[in-house]
Order: sequence, then C-alpha cells, then structure tokens
Amino acid sequence: MKLDILAFAAHPDDIELAASGTLMKHIAAGAKVGIVDLTQGELGSRGTIETRYEEAKKADEIMGISYRVNLKMDDGFFEINEKNKRLIVEQIRRFQPSIVIANSITDRHPDHGRASQLVSESCFLSGLAKFQTSWESILQEKHRPNAVYHYIQDRFIKPDFVVDVSEFVDRKIEAIKAYSSQFYNPNSTEPVTPISGEEFIEFLKGRMRDFGRDISAEFAEGFTVERTIGVRNLYDID
Ligand SMILES: [Zn+2]
Repeated sequence: MKLDILAFAAHPDDIELAASGTLMKHIAAGAKVGIVDLTQGELGSRGTIETRYEEAKKADEIMGISYRVNLKMDDGFFEINEKNKRLIVEQIRRFQPSIVIANSITDRHPDHGRASQLVSESCFLSGLAKFQTSWESILQEKHRPNAVYHYIQDRFIKPDFVVDVSEFVDRKIEAIKAYSSQFYNPNSTEPVTPISGEEFIEFLKGRMRDFGRDISAEFAEGFTVERTIGVRNLYDID
C-alpha cells in the first residue's frame, strides 16, 4: 500500500493534538495518510496501553486514517540508534510517502525532540541504497521522502509555514476527545495532569488562532521545515 503522507508520533495522540487538521484537509482532497506511533504511551499518567489503542482507533475513524502502526519503542527511553532507525526506515520504504510529518524539533516532553531527530535521520537513511532492510522477507527498495515537516506541540516555536484548518477544527477536537482517558472528561476519576483540564482544549484553540492570524484564517496549524521550501508560483502563498 502506497501512502501520500506518513505521520510519525512519539506517543499516540501527538498527531491528533498538533497536526490532525492538516491531515484531514489532505484526506478530504484525496490523500492517503498513515500514522506511525513510536511508543504505546505507556508512561502516561492516565489510562492504560489497551485504552490508548482503543482511543487511537476511534481517532483514526474520525480523521479517516488509512493505516496506523505502533513500533512499541520504550516510552521515555527510546534512543536514536540503529535498531530504531531500521524500524522507521522499514515503514518509510513500505509506504513510500512523498511527505513525512514528525514531532516538534524540541519540546517540554523530551521524547518529542528525540523522536523528531530519529525520524529525520531515518528519512535520510531510507534513501541510501546500501542500507538494506526487508519487509515480510522481501528486500526493500530505497525511498527518500520529498520533505519532512515538523509539527509544533506544547512549547511555542515560530512556524516556517501554517496550514488553514478552520474547516476541520471541530473534527480535530472530536479526534482529540477520542482519547477520553487523557483529555477533558468531566466524569474521569483519574489524576489531574497538565493536559486533562478543559482549559487545555482552549489553549489548543488559542494556539491555532494565533497561527491563523497572519494568514487571516480563523484556525491554523504550524510547521517547521528542514530545508528551504520552494513555491510553484507567488500566488501559492496566502
Ligand atoms: Zn507526546
């Protein structure tokens, strides 16, 4: 199965929080999108591994995700090493996306910056013919995505570009709330965390309003790039 966009996340729910509006916008335009979660989020203060899987499945249905895989690296402890790069390259070569989306380059949660670097380095390696990987015992062909874009998570980073997601903001909040063990749920008896209050959803909307302001959009998501981006013509810029 070939996918147009492959989105990586250190934890199930990173994508929903930071980039799901953009993914839904592309899915609505016909793109096939997959998600690769690096860990099962097993160190999260609330919920269990099982509830996270169920919640991710529910979020996938809301977003229209074609495929989702979990690489089961160690939450909090995964390292930038050959074993983990190999696991990521296998997925990139398997799905041959033209665009890869990855975590924030740096953030409050140290897993995010590490996941960002791990995925970026893997995208480069994936384009090297002599780095051999296999999937279902078949040797894989090299594949380097055209671009890696990093979404912006908890800590503010000035984006290099923003995507107008105004039309998808309600479904984005719905996809986030699919993780009912993690986010605002008035019936929950689990410990209060920095992301479990009603104000966290308001914070997310405020961030999206801030990113939208420069392009006169009500809500936008922001991304940073690794290389200079080109535009097809000057009218392409909002
Ligand atoms: Zn995370």
